[in-house]
Amino acid sequence: MFWAQKTLKDEVACTGIGLHSGKKVNLKLCPAPPNTGIIFRRIDLASRPEIKAHIANVVDGRYATTIGQNKVTISTVEHLLAALLGLGIDNIFVEVDAPEVPIMDGSAAPFVYLIKETGLKIQPVPKRVFVLKKPCIIKEGDRWIYAAPVADGGLRINFTIDFDHPLLKKQTYTFHFSPKRFEKEISRARTFGFLKEVKWLHEQGLARGGSLDNAVVIDEFRVLNKEGLRYKNEFVRHKILDLLGDLSLLGGLLVAKIKAYKTGHALNHKLARYLWQDRHLIKEVSLHPPQTVRHVTQRHYSL
Ligand SMILES: [Zn+2]
Repeated sequence: MFWAQKTLKDEVACTGIGLHSGKKVNLKLCPAPPNTGIIFRRIDLASRPEIKAHIANVVDGRYATTIGQNKVTISTVEHLLAALLGLGIDNIFVEVDAPEVPIMDGSAAPFVYLIKETGLKIQPVPKRVFVLKKPCIIKEGDRWIYAAPVADGGLRINFTIDFDHPLLKKQTYTFHFSPKRFEKEISRARTFGFLKEVKWLHEQGLARGGSLDNAVVIDEFRVLNKEGLRYKNEFVRHKILDLLGDLSLLGGLLVAKIKAYKTGHALNHKLARYLWQDRHLIKEVSLHPPQTVRHVTQRHYSL
């Protein structure tokens, strides 16, 4: 049933801490009607303002992805967005009582568990995807991201990180999108940071909630977390997780093959914005069973 839109069967909720404030944040995921998209709602504010998860509403991409509308913002949305895209959820209301989504363990796995607690409800309306029509590249210094059309459908991401650090020297990973593969290969990969950066952020009053509970922290030589890594190449897998969350801001799955080198949120947003603004580059397609499903998805989705 990949062709159909999906929401949640019922409401689910959890509590975590905000990465920036270090304070408790309550999160509730609620079912939404077909064609709603992903809507955040700040229930700590009197008018309960809504912010649509869309690239046009991205207001900051420095440390995390922040979206905003009418001066109301919500930050650190990318891991939850990756989980929603990863599991194929099209319509949902996300209620939070703070200006940020709880960081949980720094990965998308807690959101995946939360969603699976209630399960998905199929909505008999065709899902929308965005098919890339022409290749394009976004560059900034030595970082770049390249996207090209795919003949056989699906989304493929080949990501390379290359830090001047013995543990992170060069890692490349290729991910062929499917909900099952997302859950297994990507969802558990945590955010990472260098000890000296974490100290600097704390001095600036940022990332107050950041700790070994919600990030992999690395000093000059090693991982400081006692439990070690969840995947040998957890770092590059997390970069793919971030990229999936950022690209989902187009409003659906991007059908393309992507090659990324050392990119982060800001460059990911630049690509999404570029694709969104230049309507010659992407085509919005509604999937119709069964032919389109076969054509667009057969190779990459387990239906
Ligand atoms: Zn991240």
